[in-house]
Amino acid sequence: MPDGRHSDEPTEKCGVVGVSLDGRDAARPLYYALYALQHRGQESAGIVTHDGFQQHSHVEMGLVGDAFEEGDLDSLNGPTGIGHVRYPTAGSVNSSCAQPFSVSFKSGSLGLSHNGNLVNADELRQDLAASGHAFTSDGDTEVIAHDLARNLLEEDLIRAVKRTMNRIHGSYSLTITHDDTVLGVRDPQGNRPLCIGELDDGYILASESAAIDVLDGEFVRDVNPGELVVLDDDGGGYDSYQLVDAENSAHCFFEHVYFARPDSRIDSKLVYDVRRELGRKLWEEAGVESDVVVPVPDSGRAFASGYAEAAQEDGTNVEFAEGLMKNRYVGRTFIMPTQDARERAVRLKLNPIKDVIEGKTVTVIDDSIVRGTTSTQLVELLKDVGAESVHMRIGAPAIVAPCYMGIDMASRDELIAAGRDVEEIREEIAADSLSYLSVDAVAEALGESEDDLCLGCVTGEYPYDIEGEPTDRDIARPEVGGDQPEAGVAGSDD
Ligand code: AMP
Repeated sequence: MPDGRHSDEPTEKCGVVGVSLDGRDAARPLYYALYALQHRGQESAGIVTHDGFQQHSHVEMGLVGDAFEEGDLDSLNGPTGIGHVRYPTAGSVNSSCAQPFSVSFKSGSLGLSHNGNLVNADELRQDLAASGHAFTSDGDTEVIAHDLARNLLEEDLIRAVKRTMNRIHGSYSLTITHDDTVLGVRDPQGNRPLCIGELDDGYILASESAAIDVLDGEFVRDVNPGELVVLDDDGGGYDSYQLVDAENSAHCFFEHVYFARPDSRIDSKLVYDVRRELGRKLWEEAGVESDVVVPVPDSGRAFASGYAEAAQEDGTNVEFAEGLMKNRYVGRTFIMPTQDARERAVRLKLNPIKDVIEGKTVTVIDDSIVRGTTSTQLVELLKDVGAESVHMRIGAPAIVAPCYMGIDMASRDELIAAGRDVEEIREEIAADSLSYLSVDAVAEALGESEDDLCLGCVTGEYPYDIEGEPTDRDIARPEVGGDQPEAGVAGSDD
């Protein structure tokens, strides 16, 4: 999508998990872990396990709680397995893209769960199709699976993974089963999160540490960018192989701002702490005195509490108040297909508490503005119930460009900030004032250099080689086709 237009093609915006246990069936721990990752994907859920002889798979459309019956979990035998929840995309509800993707081939069975988005999947698909691979979906995950299956015919597991990593370009956190071995792989820039946890009787790999917590496990560490982690089949430990070294990482800052759970730890930082720090910086950079500070629930809460705390430390009388109530049974407004439906859904989802707002000057804190639907509606609603003035403060920079790396944003022409300055956006949403956080403040709150972050959606320059888009670093997509390079590897035991 070089022009940044939204595509109806499936993209992979998801949560992944993998476990290896000492004897106990993996299905239930995987099921609970998927529950903890439900916010990362509501379109479909699936589990693949291996019992030492054969692979078992159950993949369904819908939420985790609806996708599995008791009997489904009973039939998913074996102490090793992986799971997946898939994020919905506008227009495409496609069961052929539900995951984990599983396949049996000459040298065994493979299951794959993918979070992220490859930018050279089409080239790879054509290359593999030319050598006889037939595809059942148009998602990237199947491309990775076929490439790996092909490499496994010629190489051992570690070298095969390395070869595939040398050919795929883009964002990927993967959990994989190769027969009864569970692997985790993070792309060389570490764009999407992946971490390792220790359980009483085994190990777990998961997109977010909240999935380790629900299994009463201990967070061990993040998987490093470019690292392959292989869990021992008996749940006793894991081996680590640093397969690809990149000069810089490209951690997605938006995971911290919006996507991940606040109780998860990503790249050594608790998301909740980062959001509070972003809120504090928002006050420092763009604080405005008002009677009340109101978060847009749920994601604005931590930002607003940090903002209000910093404001109070500066001696202002600002009060933190929950002036907007959220109806938790309304789904994500963002992915609704028409503007009319999105506006109606914001109204259903958020209701102001008149007594908190009436006659007051109000600062509203949200994590981001995408199309501007939420902010426009909120300003109107708050004025309708008697707000004297409404000041919007946003805990991230303006989103000016699409995400190609696995988060469903909008196309460039739908983004309210694309081609508009802040004053024009303020006018459009009819707020009394509007400020965003700076890119510098985001990097500081995350404790990372801008060179180690993916800031594509707020700068329009991407850390990957995307056709038709500028890049902010010296990185090129790999040549696909021709002879496979040697895949020498060095391993280390943890
Ligand atoms: P909008 O109404 O289009 O401006 O969207 C902004 C609202 O959607 C904010 O309240 C965010 O919390 C939320 N949001 C931001 N990014 C996403 C996303 N990728 N998917 C769903 N919701 C999002």
